[in-house]
Amino acid sequence: MKFAKFFIGGLCAASMMACGGPKESVVEAWWLPDRDPSNNPVSLFGEVPESIVEELGIQDGIPASMSAYLVKVDGMPILFDTGFGNRLAEGLAEQGVDAAELEYIYLTHLHGDHIGGLMKPDAFPKATVYISRPEFEAWKNMESGNTQQLQLFEMYADRISLFEFGDVLPGGVLPMDAKGHTPGHTVFEVGNYLIIGDLMHGAALQMAYPEYCASFDMNHEDAVASRVKYLQYAKEKGLTLAGMHMPGFVEQ
Ligand SMILES: [Zn+2]
Repeated sequence: MKFAKFFIGGLCAASMMACGGPKESVVEAWWLPDRDPSNNPVSLFGEVPESIVEELGIQDGIPASMSAYLVKVDGMPILFDTGFGNRLAEGLAEQGVDAAELEYIYLTHLHGDHIGGLMKPDAFPKATVYISRPEFEAWKNMESGNTQQLQLFEMYADRISLFEFGDVLPGGVLPMDAKGHTPGHTVFEVGNYLIIGDLMHGAALQMAYPEYCASFDMNHEDAVASRVKYLQYAKEKGLTLAGMHMPGFVEQ
């Protein structure tokens, strides 16, 4: 597991009166791969010219993973997505986090490889699951293909917290609109990290050529716009990228 520690300021901004001024928070993050890393085929991204494949050295595919991330803000654990839940409990336990005690789970979006770990009964008996309102509404109102998502809503009925983009979530985490992969796809800024969900399925290709979409992106035009926007944002702010299908953390 990669480990990094950053200090951030201003987390008390919302409660300045109570805490008496800005304080520095310690933000630590861990990559929790849910299975062994593998390569995504270039064909997943449509017609990529051979010249680009050669330039980037991705003839054998693009390094990828299926992952979740654990972040601790001043020791308070927050889980971002859950993969299918293959190795989740072990990954958390390695960092001293008991799934049965975990209180905060933030979701980037509601595809099965991100919510699977939530579907086992009593996997997270104390957790509140945070979902962007547009993501929740989109899956709730979908005409088909949403069986698992409806099941999730039922299982966590009284423990789902819907947020708006621009809210500040517990831990000082900032959720931002990154629609395209799904209608309410969310990236989260916390400390020096940008948790980017499925903004990219092939970082080695898409960081250089963000115009290429994986076939999984529901709205390609929006997905490209979000990718360009948040790659630029992370670069300007010097944020470390944490993507759920990336082979671990990537410095911008
Ligand atoms: Zn995914």
